[in-house]
Amino acid sequence: MYGFYNRILSIDVTDQTSRIEQPADRMLRRGLGGKGLAIQLLLANNPPQVDPLSPANHLIFANGPASGSPVWGCCRHGVYAKSPQTGLFSESYSGGTVAEHINGTGFDAVMIHGAAEQPGWLEVSPEGVEFHPAEDLWGLDTFATEDRIKEWIQQNRPEAGKCGVVCIGPGGENQVSFAVIENDYWRSAGRTGLGAVMGSKKIKAIAFRGKSKKQFADDELLKNFAKSLAQIGKDNAGVKAYKSMGTPMLVDIMNEAGGFPTRYWSKGRSEHREQFNASALHSRCDVEPHACLKCFMACGRLSTVKEGRHKGLKIEGPEYETIFAFGGLCEIGSIEEIAYLNDICDRLGIDTITAGNLAGLAIEAARQGRIDSPIDYGNVDEVAQLLHDIAYRRGIGETLARGIKHAAKEWGMEDQAIHVKGLEPAGYDPRILKGMGLAYGTSDRGACHLRATFYKPELSGMVDRDEIEGKAKVFAEWEDRLTIFDTLVLCRFYRDLYQWEQLAEMIKGTTGLDLDVKAMRRIAANVTDDVRRFNLQEGLTRQDDLLPPRFHKEPLPETQKVITAEQMDQMLKEYYQVRGWNERGEPPAA
Ligand code: SF4
Repeated sequence: MYGFYNRILSIDVTDQTSRIEQPADRMLRRGLGGKGLAIQLLLANNPPQVDPLSPANHLIFANGPASGSPVWGCCRHGVYAKSPQTGLFSESYSGGTVAEHINGTGFDAVMIHGAAEQPGWLEVSPEGVEFHPAEDLWGLDTFATEDRIKEWIQQNRPEAGKCGVVCIGPGGENQVSFAVIENDYWRSAGRTGLGAVMGSKKIKAIAFRGKSKKQFADDELLKNFAKSLAQIGKDNAGVKAYKSMGTPMLVDIMNEAGGFPTRYWSKGRSEHREQFNASALHSRCDVEPHACLKCFMACGRLSTVKEGRHKGLKIEGPEYETIFAFGGLCEIGSIEEIAYLNDICDRLGIDTITAGNLAGLAIEAARQGRIDSPIDYGNVDEVAQLLHDIAYRRGIGETLARGIKHAAKEWGMEDQAIHVKGLEPAGYDPRILKGMGLAYGTSDRGACHLRATFYKPELSGMVDRDEIEGKAKVFAEWEDRLTIFDTLVLCRFYRDLYQWEQLAEMIKGTTGLDLDVKAMRRIAANVTDDVRRFNLQEGLTRQDDLLPPRFHKEPLPETQKVITAEQMDQMLKEYYQVRGWNERGEPPAA
């Protein structure tokens, strides 16, 4: 099919072999690329109920048909496996430059299984894979690892030009259940612990290089499409907002809405918000907008701290989700200190959203006398120490490295811990944004804000936040459209610009498939159903789609709002109906 190389590189790191497989055309028609391809590969290759950190778990890097095209927002790669954090389907996406280099290798996906005895790194090119030892890299942080691999490629493959590198830090090496796979220093496949899967295989890094170019169905169409989008983007208010303020603009928006999770989910507004909102970031740091390849939105903030003990610290970020996790949940009331914690997580290779959530849980545990630790709200040095202890699995860090379910059980806090399926939510309180309750409940990777980004219609007033009836139908349409984003592998922030019409045009230009909305939604439903089947096979039940009880019982002090168990139940019932699933949330047989 056009838009694909129709080649998958399958690597066995145990015996250092590889083979090239051709995906069946029907697989690509069923799910396109990215998530749609990866879930079919996982269903076909992962043994049911496999231990996520065992050699038999498959780790998949996948691009979509838009990769390598002129389409804006297409420089994004997806990573998939069974998650060590949730025990369910794992997906995570990252921007930067790597997708372009994966595309250069001439493979649509690289699928890795097995486990090496000694640390190594992989060099993937159009010729296949080369295995390199990495004893000298093991123990390095993510930044140093990326530098070293890039230097090696430059010296030993002078004809290759630039390469893309993904790597793990000490968090991944030590198989912390929420370790990330980092690239371009500050970008990461951040959620659900894919770095731990890579660490379990003893792969420190992967370099992707090559100059392959795939054939698209209609190059002229794609060129014109990208040209007109750039024009439309110039005057788009959303684009301007992302470019001028980045995601930290959400600090004020969520505080005003009363749904900015604060003091480990016990408040909806922070008294410190002016210390870490977008204005604070832009006034207290030198900030330059920074973009992934093929993006005119440039939501990234390349920030350098101007004053104080972190003067000179340079980071891409902090993003809203990191600000909420440390600034809100742990009450670290300073953008410079949040940047410092962000930098530690990046270097260690652990997810900031989960890290902030777990630090918040640890603070509560300490305050309640459940653990012996000086950690407290606002105590940045203790939080920083905890991040290191997690990555190196020391003391209470060892408990937290195993994930929130484990920690909550060990500390007798199962009624207080905030998570769905073992994944902690992002910075949108579902007591305020009810549709985010449905999103957290039903997302296949746990309490995820991104699969439907339903905060957007609820915050912008397109959808009534408190309405319950009929919400699942609107939600499913958002979810379907963004599932198509994940099969093409596109950046979420183009969601206002890429409605169904634009997605159809993009699919036609890349693959040649002429699809109407119904056909695209059919593909999205195939993917959602396949992932659900995978999760059911791994032990998921309806119970796992429920929210933590605190969201039902504990009103937010500023607004007195909760999301009741009955409201959640009604949305879930409607969602299952819309999806064509039975009352237990099971899709019909494939
Ligand atoms: S909007 Fe942001 S995340 Fe998306 S492609 Fe552009 S810079 Fe990358």
